[in-house]
Amino acid sequence: PMPLVAIIGRPNVGKSTLFNRILGSRTAIVDDVPGVTRDRNYADTNYRNRPFRLIDTGGLEPAASDGMLALIRRQSELAIAEADVLILLMDGRAGLMPQDQEVIRLLRGTTKPLFVAINKIDTPKTEVLVADFYQLGIDSLFPISAEHGIGVADLLDALYPLL
Ligand code: GDP
Ligand code: MG
Repeated sequence: PMPLVAIIGRPNVGKSTLFNRILGSRTAIVDDVPGVTRDRNYADTNYRNRPFRLIDTGGLEPAASDGMLALIRRQSELAIAEADVLILLMDGRAGLMPQDQEVIRLLRGTTKPLFVAINKIDTPKTEVLVADFYQLGIDSLFPISAEHGIGVADLLDALYPLL
């Protein structure tokens, strides 16, 4: 069975942009079922001939009835339970936010491989924004720009051995 790679993180960090960037031209676009979800939740794709299923956790539920924090928590818990490989995405421009800390708290205790990417690092000048996230004590942070496709290949190369 192919490995499940889930992108987790609070809203607006760029999960859907990264999802679409990773799929790129590798995967044929299949139309959404109208009215069910705004975003596609998952797609089967491959990297350097290794197939995997990519999950965008932000699209798992169409609406939150009990608040944003509960939604983030539920989606993250689901992904942490189901996925084989986790990509935690945060927003370099916004810096480390309490909702990021909440997702990180949920990750404590998981033994699943975790790749932490700092998004919206669009130019070399903004690389300094990654520094804020080193307070988490994670040694390996991937600066990326999902929008411009910068650093995404490095991230995929890092998780390639797990595919
Ligand atoms: P999600 O809620 O985590 O799925 O985030 P989205 O993918 O919907 O992106 C949220 C916003 O961030 C959108 O306005 C994107 O255009 C923007 N965004 C995503 N990736 C980047 C990036 O690499 N650089 C910049 N500057 N903006 C980005
Ligand atoms: Mg999204």
